[in-house]
Amino acid sequence: MAATFSKLGLAEPILRALRKQGYEHPTPIQEQAIPLLLEGRDLLGIAQTGTGKTAAFALPILDFLSEDPQPRVPKRPSVLVLTPTRELAAQIGESFEIYGANVDVEHTVVFGGVGQTPQVRAMRKGVDVLVATPGRLGDLMQQGHIDLRDIEVFVLDEADRMLDMGFIHEVRKITAKLPRDRQTLLFSATMPNEIAKLAQSILRDPARVEVTPPATTVERIEQSVMYVEKKEKPVLLAELLRDPSIERVLVFTRTKYGADKVVKFLRRYDIPAEAIHGNKSQNARERALEGFRSGRVRVLIATDIAARGIDVPGITHVINFDLPNIPASYVHRIGRTARAGRDGTAIAFCASDERPLLRDIEKDIRQKVPVVKAPELGPVPPPPRRPAQSDRSKYGKPKKRGAKKAGRKKPASSGNRRSNDARKPSKSKPKAGGPRKAGPSRGNRKPKRRRPS
Ligand code: AMP
Repeated sequence: MAATFSKLGLAEPILRALRKQGYEHPTPIQEQAIPLLLEGRDLLGIAQTGTGKTAAFALPILDFLSEDPQPRVPKRPSVLVLTPTRELAAQIGESFEIYGANVDVEHTVVFGGVGQTPQVRAMRKGVDVLVATPGRLGDLMQQGHIDLRDIEVFVLDEADRMLDMGFIHEVRKITAKLPRDRQTLLFSATMPNEIAKLAQSILRDPARVEVTPPATTVERIEQSVMYVEKKEKPVLLAELLRDPSIERVLVFTRTKYGADKVVKFLRRYDIPAEAIHGNKSQNARERALEGFRSGRVRVLIATDIAARGIDVPGITHVINFDLPNIPASYVHRIGRTARAGRDGTAIAFCASDERPLLRDIEKDIRQKVPVVKAPELGPVPPPPRRPAQSDRSKYGKPKKRGAKKAGRKKPASSGNRRSNDARKPSKSKPKAGGPRKAGPSRGNRKPKRRRPS
């Protein structure tokens, strides 16, 4: 019989939020991780995006914070979630917002690429949960706007991506500032040596939960590869997009420049496309994502890094315009379709110089990607004639930049909190020590979070 959320021991207001979301059953990682986390155990979670891992950590955190409320102290959050990209950070923030709709838990999100003032202001007011990317968090800590001494739960999300993106040094610097007595969760899709070492140094007697090894996600996706000459890829893409069953498609290119080129090409054929990559401003990225979510933009072109954490339901197709250099990225990419139990289609374009990459991918996913013959491609047809200006205004014209507020605040949720009631300096808290080593439990941890008398 399928498990239910109420059997996992979550509080009623949280269950209500889940019912509202239409979540009927926990995903495997939720089912395994939530009871362990409610006990206060450290956790090593081998799981990738799409498995429901965000709720797997957000739900017990919300449960813990709401069952044992503490006054919020300016600059000193109780929970830190560290994640590699702004998109992931924003999505985790949204998850806390949604799952925490019925509890009095404040969170904020800090990441780079936007002004820091609203983030500093939110920290000064005090939050329970801080979701952050490493760069901006480091900056704000250095400027004295964030202090991690009260962290009770630390989540390191997508640890292998942190490594890929060169953040591991910053991550180590940040973890060095955390109190020793805490609960730590580390999630990673893969376990390269460096991450295994990091896990060993920051986790204490962790429970290990492993779900959806890449092959399982991959199995639900109908994959194919088309051999095509590099210069013909844009035409092939435009040709494929004539198929209306490709309703919402995420296209991956290797470079930002490549992403922009594909967008330009498609727009010449009046195919609404947007690119999302690191050279775009946060506003432009959010606009593109929003257009994609709403269905206004049918084709989103992304690079790997920009695509981390894109969680758009209903992506029917993923097209690998360029094959990734790292085989694991292939799995991440195609996992954007077939999310939360749905199926999807993934098509890869493979130029002759990409054959070795395809072989590596096939080794990694332990299966052959079926080869499908590309449709006949004639000479590139000239784009339809149209006045240059109207095209710009339809797809290309940049909208006005608006200040985006960092963090998603719940309206009127802090009324009954004593937000000006500063926690005493940390010496008033019980010292780190024995209980956790002997088998940490919520029972052990609870008194630690009681308000100082
Ligand atoms: P994540 O792996 O955290 O990025 O989650 C992947 C997607 O699954 C998100 O769109 C979630 O909203 C959705 N999701 C998470 N848990 C459940 C659940 N128990 N039932 C249905 N959908 C879920």
